[in-house]
Amino acid sequence: MLALRSRREALTKLLPPLREVLRGSLMERYLTCGKPDCKCARGQRHGPVWYLSVTLDQSHRTGATVPRDRVEQVRRWIENYHRVKERLEKISDINRELLRRGKSQKQPREKARK
Ligand SMILES: [Zn+2]
Repeated sequence: MLALRSRREALTKLLPPLREVLRGSLMERYLTCGKPDCKCARGQRHGPVWYLSVTLDQSHRTGATVPRDRVEQVRRWIENYHRVKERLEKISDINRELLRRGKSQKQPREKARK
């Protein structure tokens, strides 16, 4: 029990700053501008343009263009998101295990009131 609790404690300390998270994936895009005489019309597309693509549900996506000077930050924040999620899962597993073990211990219970 104590080991689980200290593991849980360690996990909460390893969390990245919670304000620095982003869900989604970073994509590199090469675009055409539509001008018929532009080099992009001959295959030399403009770019890369960075884009954060976010799945909302099975049929909906959203996103945002990422300025070049924020690409590294966005990468880091996406990584943070996965770390937070992974650690939350671990903490939740520990709590479930603690709950399970708590049940098997014969603890004095409060009488059910009606
Ligand atoms: Zn063009």
